[in-house]
Amino acid sequence: MSKFFTNRYQALTPYTPGEQPRDMQYIKLNTNESPYPPSKKATDAAATAAARLQLYPDPTYKALHEALASYHGVTPHMVLATNGSDEILNFAFMAFCDEAHPALFADITYGFYSVFATLNHVPFTEIPLKKDFSLSVDDYIGKKGTVFIANPNAPTGLALPLSEIERLLASDKDRVVVIDEAYVDFGTESAVSLINRYENLLVTRTFSKSRSMAGARLGYGIGSPALIADLNTIKYSTNPYNVNSMSAAAGLGVMADEPYTVSCCQEIMKTRTNAMTGLKKLGFEMTDAKGNFLFVRHPKMSGEAIYLALKKRGILVRHFNKAPISDYNRITVGTPADMQTLIDTLADILKEIK
Ligand code: PMP
Repeated sequence: MSKFFTNRYQALTPYTPGEQPRDMQYIKLNTNESPYPPSKKATDAAATAAARLQLYPDPTYKALHEALASYHGVTPHMVLATNGSDEILNFAFMAFCDEAHPALFADITYGFYSVFATLNHVPFTEIPLKKDFSLSVDDYIGKKGTVFIANPNAPTGLALPLSEIERLLASDKDRVVVIDEAYVDFGTESAVSLINRYENLLVTRTFSKSRSMAGARLGYGIGSPALIADLNTIKYSTNPYNVNSMSAAAGLGVMADEPYTVSCCQEIMKTRTNAMTGLKKLGFEMTDAKGNFLFVRHPKMSGEAIYLALKKRGILVRHFNKAPISDYNRITVGTPADMQTLIDTLADILKEIK
């Protein structure tokens, strides 16, 4: 730390992204990226946009907002594109949380929520999940504050039914509820259908997972026009050109290729089911995975030992050294071949400890 770093941020512990080692060729199952390339329509559109990089992007992102609005059946002033969904989440912490509106989120959830809260000097309460990692909305009802729920949750992979989200929204229409739907396209019901009825609902989405565009950094929020206007105030006060032209164009490109996205998601869900079956045969225990990742543990080996043994053999998974999930690893669903290699490697590792 330099002597110039202000007191304001000295206590900040930044988010730790999944490791991206370059020392060997790994099978990367640690950052929930798609194993499939982006749509050709996305890369073609990005290449065309690249030829005009001397110009700033349209700060209103009119074409992208119109496409997103039409995809979700809302109006364009109900959506806001951002630099990854991380940015819309940060904007939400900035816009809707303060001393009087502390943030509420689960104790086991996306690690960035507590970082954003700390960054923005927002008090927060981490509400424990149940022992089986399920989330009860009753734990949030009657408590004051802005709620952040990842649905499905990460890293647990568990999803809440829409009826529970609606119960939470209806219980207090004077507080904002943010539903982070980064993984919704892998089989969870979206809360976007509630947008027109609850002006306190903000849904966040990303192109990083189901649309194979993690490197483009493109996300967005969907909410009532008033919520989106507030988020625009934050955007225009931080970075009006928050999405680069190539990513905005790639976003439009992949949206024009919906069958490709749907088929990638179907393939990933099929591979997820097969991988779960294979891992169960090896004695692994796991949650009911609804994202593009599995959350697994083995009764005979610690989470860390499994993580290290896999890394030694060229497979990266994500281990969180934090109770009560330190026994678990989060494993991204890769291609069928990746998952077969994973299962064969785990079988060898387990044989060695017998
Ligand atoms: N929400 C959740 C639950 C996530 O796991 C992630 C990324 N890993 C994000 C949001 C952010 O994704 P991105 O910024 O790539 O859109």
